[in-house]
Parts: sequence; C-alpha cells; structure tokens
Amino acid sequence: MEQLFNKLDELYNEIVGIRRFLHEYPELSFEEVETAKYIAQFHENLGHKVQTNVGGNGVLAYLIGGKPGPTIALRADFDALPIQEQTDVPYKSKNDGVMHACGHDGHTASLLGLAKALNSMQAEIEGTIVFLHQHAEELPPGGAIAMIEDGCLEGVDVIFGTHLQAQTPLGEIGYRSGPLQAAPDRFDIKIIGKGGHGASPHETKDSIVIGAQLINNLQQIVSRRIDPLESAVVSICNFEAKNPYNVIADTAEMTGTVRTFKEDIRNFIEEEIDRVIKGTCLVSGADYEYTYSRGYPTTVNHEAETNFVATLAPSVPGVTNVRETEPIMGGEDFSYYLQQIKGTFFFTGAKNPESTETYPHHHPKFDIDERALLIAAKVLGSAALKYAKNNKLSFSAN
Ligand code: MN
Repeated sequence: MEQLFNKLDELYNEIVGIRRFLHEYPELSFEEVETAKYIAQFHENLGHKVQTNVGGNGVLAYLIGGKPGPTIALRADFDALPIQEQTDVPYKSKNDGVMHACGHDGHTASLLGLAKALNSMQAEIEGTIVFLHQHAEELPPGGAIAMIEDGCLEGVDVIFGTHLQAQTPLGEIGYRSGPLQAAPDRFDIKIIGKGGHGASPHETKDSIVIGAQLINNLQQIVSRRIDPLESAVVSICNFEAKNPYNVIADTAEMTGTVRTFKEDIRNFIEEEIDRVIKGTCLVSGADYEYTYSRGYPTTVNHEAETNFVATLAPSVPGVTNVRETEPIMGGEDFSYYLQQIKGTFFFTGAKNPESTETYPHHHPKFDIDERALLIAAKVLGSAALKYAKNNKLSFSAN
C-alpha cells in the first residue's frame, strides 16, 4: 500500500491540475462530450483498454493486472450543473451558466490520478480494475442506468465510489451500511377550476384558493400519516397561477419533490397525494391532473463492503476521522449499481479547516479543499488493492 500512497503523493499536483482544467470547462448532464473525450484520452495514454459512448457519454477503462483476481469497479461521475459560478478562483468556469458545483470534477480528477498510480503497479495488481466514468448523475434518468443496460457491470464483482462533501471536514470519511441516500421523486399537479371575473367569485371555481388548500392538506401526509420514526419529505417547490389582478385563475399548477428511504412509504405517499388532491378538488368541484415521476432508487450500501471500507480507512494517510454518517435526503444514481452487484458508496470530507465560510453543494460559490482528492484516491485505491488480495483465492481459476 505504501507504494500506492507514495505514487499518489507524487501525482498530487497533476491531480489538482486535472481538477482545475475540468472545472474551467464544465459540461451539462448528457452533453459531456469533451469531458468524455478527455477522460478516454487520458486512459489511452496509459495504455488502458478504453470503451467510449457507454450508455451515452460514459467511459470505461480497464487495467488488467499481472496476477489473477476479481474485477473491481471504481466509479466517478463527471457532469456539471446549470449554475453561473460566482467564485473568484483562477480556475473559474469558462462555460457561461455551467458549473462544477457538486465536485464531480474532483471525483474524476481523483480517479484519473488513481488510474495512473495503479497503472505503474500493473505487474503486482491482482485481477482487473474497471474505471467507471459516469456521465449525467445530476439529471434523471441519469447515466448509471444506461451504462448498466449497455453492460458496464458485466463480469464486475464489486463496486466502490465516493462523493466529496464540501461541508464535512477534510480528513473525515463517512460510511453507512444500508440506506444512505433517499429516493428523489417528482410530482406535478394541475388544478383545473373555472376562471372568471374577480368581482364574481361565486361564478368561478377559484384554482388559487383550491391550490392553497391543497398545499396545506398535503402537509399532513408526513406529519400525520407517516410513522414518526420513519423519514419522508413532501415539498411543494413551485406554485403558479398567473393572472391580471381582477381575474380569477382558471388553472393552477404546482411541482414538488418526495424523498423516501423505503419502497412501501414511497408507494404510500404516491397514492396519498392522489387521494388528497381528489378530496380537495371534490369539495370545490374542480378537476385535476396528477403525475408522479420516480427518480433514482434509494442508495442502499452492502454491509460487508461498507464495513470493509470503514475498517481500512483509518490506516489511509490523511484520514483523521472515520465515522458512521447519517443518511441524507439527496438522491444519487450510484443506487442502480448497488441493486445489481455488491459494493459501497462513502463520503469524503472536503471542507478546508481554515476557511470560515463554506457553501453547500449546488451553490454558485461552491468549492472544495483539493487535498480531499488525494484522500479519496487513497481510500478507493486501498479498497481495490485490499479487496483483490482478500478475494484472490476465489478467482484464482480466472
Ligand atoms: Mn453529486
């Protein structure tokens, strides 16, 4: 492991350089053509077998070790967000309205650096390492499902991945067995009332009043009908019924999100929203349209692989704290890989200990402490090498 850590230390400046380059040229989900080319070129230069256009803009690169062993996938996503960057860093985004505001540039730089370090140890590596560079994590249906359908997990025994966390201190690794991230769903509601003159409400079915009632009624799903020991979120994030000041709205539309960890609660909320709309509209004589769109599944980590990472992380240089993290309500399409094969997704702290102000993910001033890239690479690299060593016997016939 010393050899890997030393090699990564030597590559630190290059990793930072890659991250800053990617940060300057971010691309939106499903449009990451240049980023994919850059990644593919990097692996080709290392002599890795490369597969491009996997399920869209996805890139797979293979490092075939000198010794037999399992096939281990390491995943990094590489898409950016439709956000105008507001930082003053020299590597600020040059693509107007697009920003790496979630740290996926860091994930990619970290994995590319790790690929180069592991490549230099090829003869010693047991088994195959698959560098799984995933496009479009930010926008459902996401890149993971398409890459899986295109065969990215064929022959893969286990998968590891990490997300940088800008508000978690540098040096911290957060793990959790079981549900880690929620299923992020979307719903759209249209109330179809009857518009009319603002002076004659009795001749209308006021969709704004019905909508206001509905918003209130929906609050009771989580607060009154879900077991308080379970978690769920129902948020209405948009409510629109634009009209002149003296016209009663014909229709009102609202959009929102539901976050859950368990499938039965997810199903219950989907049906319950429908029931509440139906009831509210019935009272007012209005009609409605309702669509519920499922986002990614809940990200459920496998126990053995999670414990494996939690056990090895403390001995990785730079890691000062390894702790069981709380689940978060944000979604992640790493969930799809974990439905297919075993593995784990963990958090890597990236908050600069000296900075007084940090901004959350998806914020126009988001930034990370780049030293976290080295820590992420070391933990992922250790996981790959140790997993291969622990599991080589069962694969020695390969
Ligand atoms: Mn992200």
